[in-house]
Formats: sequence, structure tokens, C-alpha cells
Amino acid sequence: MRTICIGLLFCLLTGPAVFGQSGPGTNDLKIITRQEWQAKEPVAKMKPHELKFITIHHTATRQKPGVSVAVKLQHLQAFSQREDTLAGGKKKPIWPDVPYHFYVTCDGEIGEGRDIRYVGDTNTEYDPTGHILVTLEGNFEIEEPTKEQMVAAKKLIAWLAAKYQIPPERIKAHKDYAQTACPGKKLYERLGEFRKEK
Ligand SMILES: [Zn+2]
Repeated sequence: MRTICIGLLFCLLTGPAVFGQSGPGTNDLKIITRQEWQAKEPVAKMKPHELKFITIHHTATRQKPGVSVAVKLQHLQAFSQREDTLAGGKKKPIWPDVPYHFYVTCDGEIGEGRDIRYVGDTNTEYDPTGHILVTLEGNFEIEEPTKEQMVAAKKLIAWLAAKYQIPPERIKAHKDYAQTACPGKKLYERLGEFRKEK
């Protein structure tokens, strides 16, 4: 859990406001809320933004089947909210909260990350303002997204695109904006699948 999309991202979120009446449940979409995974409060102020893009990441960590999204997000939040060293030796500062707005596990579970109303964090050179950051668990330079994971991610992205009126051409990957391998070639080559289901 130490290399979150390195190169990367450091993209960032909070609450129940995300899930209104058009939310999960309408198309079989289930999102584990911050309350459900017992998220801690953000430790610093975050910047509000207007949502215009959906941007895909990978965690750059190996998939761990059988571990709940709650545990994964608790670990990610602990890592996010402390200073640490990234792969490659680069120092990471304390972030207010987890960098991504949504986290999709290899078992197809979806967790709410940082409050979507606030800008995520990134360690690369692009401004994530306006970007909804969705990360899929895995290092897709060397492993494949699972079937369950792709199904869940497609539902999530279709719901987000409809809710925030984000056109297909604004659904892209981290590497389309910054110098990074994220989200890994085995996921990047399948990005088109996220633009179809609208
Ligand atoms: Zn990324």
C-alpha cells in the first residue's frame, strides 16, 4: 500500500452528499460509503471544484482478492494522512484524505473515497481540479483488471457520467494528462469500454 499510483497521482474527497436519489441502487450499483468503511475525517482543508472530467487510475499495487474494500480504504487513508516515502524514494506529504474519489477492488467492490466535491491530490503535473478520480486496484502494467472489477467500474462510471453530465470524450486516463504509466497498459487499452455504457 505504499505506492499508490506513483508517478502519480495524488489525486483527493467526503460524503453522503454524493449519493442522492439517483444514486446507487438504481442500476445495481453498490457503493460502500465512508461511514460504512469508518473513514476518518480529512486532516486538512480541501478545495471545492466543479466536476467536468472522469479520470481513471490504478493503485499500482498488486491486487489482493478476498480483502474488503473497507480494509483497503482504511489502509489507504492511513497512508494518505501521514508523511511517507513513495516507491523511488520520493517523499510524500500529508494529504487531507485519500487521493481518489472512488476505489474499485479486484473483487468488484466499490468504495467512496474523498468527498467528490473536493479536488483530489496528484504528484504529477496536471491540475486535477474538475476531475472525478476513479482508481482500480492493481498494477496494470503487469496484471489484468478482473471481470468483476471491470463490470463494477463500468457501472460506476456510467452512473457518474450521467449524474454529472460528463461526455465520453472527457472520460480519460491519468496518462492522458501527465507523465506517468498510470493506469497501466493493460487497463489503458480497455479505456474505450468505459465510454460506451452510457
Ligand atoms: Zn494515476
